[in-house]
Amino acid sequence: MRDGFLDDAVSAALLPWYDRHARNLPWRVPPEALAAGILPDPYRVWLSEIMLQQTTVAAVRDYFQRFTARWPTVAALAAAEDAEVMAEWAGLGYYARARNLLKCARVVAGEHGGRFPDTEEGLRSLPGIGPYTAAAVAAIAFDRPAAVMDGNVERVLARLFAVETPLPAAKPELRALSERLTPEDRPGCYAQAVMDLGATICTPRAPACGICPVIELCRARAEGIAADLPRKAPKAAKPTRLGIVYLARRRDGAVLLETRPDKGLLGGMLGWPGTDWAETEPPDAPPLSAEWHDPGLEVRHTFTHFHLRLRVLLAVPEPDATPRRGTFHPRATFRPSSLPTLMRKAWNLAEGAWPQD
Ligand code: SF4
Repeated sequence: MRDGFLDDAVSAALLPWYDRHARNLPWRVPPEALAAGILPDPYRVWLSEIMLQQTTVAAVRDYFQRFTARWPTVAALAAAEDAEVMAEWAGLGYYARARNLLKCARVVAGEHGGRFPDTEEGLRSLPGIGPYTAAAVAAIAFDRPAAVMDGNVERVLARLFAVETPLPAAKPELRALSERLTPEDRPGCYAQAVMDLGATICTPRAPACGICPVIELCRARAEGIAADLPRKAPKAAKPTRLGIVYLARRRDGAVLLETRPDKGLLGGMLGWPGTDWAETEPPDAPPLSAEWHDPGLEVRHTFTHFHLRLRVLLAVPEPDATPRRGTFHPRATFRPSSLPTLMRKAWNLAEGAWPQD
């Protein structure tokens, strides 16, 4: 329920600020263009929101440009080969997003005539679109008064209302505040304004309150606790898992790669064959018979729930060696950039350490 002066005052202060200071983002229709009647492309809004989950704007920009240059419409993306899309996504992480991206594009192209549903409810029925993404796309692409939530919005609201409950317990309270504050007038611009405020002024460590358009309304600022909010419950320490990856490169340059199973981490991505990952290093399980060298290399990588340390073994197999797993990819068609970051790290580490080098 909306209540009174403060709720309206937030959007009344943020919208004119957004009109002057909106970030220039490749998927965004700037406020002056919107005012001139140019509508956002729901495909671009959706694609950017999926890419931005767990990822920064800086990391997403180039990926977004490449995807939209190669697949300018949802129909074009729906018709793409799975392997091409996974290779283009490589390095962006959270690979289940890429698999769901394709599923969603195919549902929109095949069952909705290439048009995204224009309500939160309709959007949530699509693969890979949860409540946050549905609200963001409904607000930004269709100007629906949907309450958006992301890390930036949570921080801004926790500070504006001096919410001291730690995250994640504070989420329902922050969501209720977001619903209360979302205006009927220009809700899409308002949603992007709160996100921009969090990204550029109300930043995590040192909020620039002196230039903030809502400073007069901010309780955390008045109480001198802005930089301490939002409070966060202490995180559990991450366990470490161990494993081995096997890099085999023939003398003709061909490399042994396999497509990982669809389910699980890095699912559907190309990678070096390897053991499972476990608390103690699993037994050696090379993908082909060869003389395997251990040059003492270790890849370290951190996933959301654990750290990973992989021992890197190298071999230069005979030309007729038959792999038990994976297939040889000729050097001419092998692009290290199509590997997920973890696998690319192993390739980079191996440089200069190959047995015949
Ligand atoms: Fe954030 Fe400071 Fe603005 Fe409050 S006044 S919203 S803490 S930048």
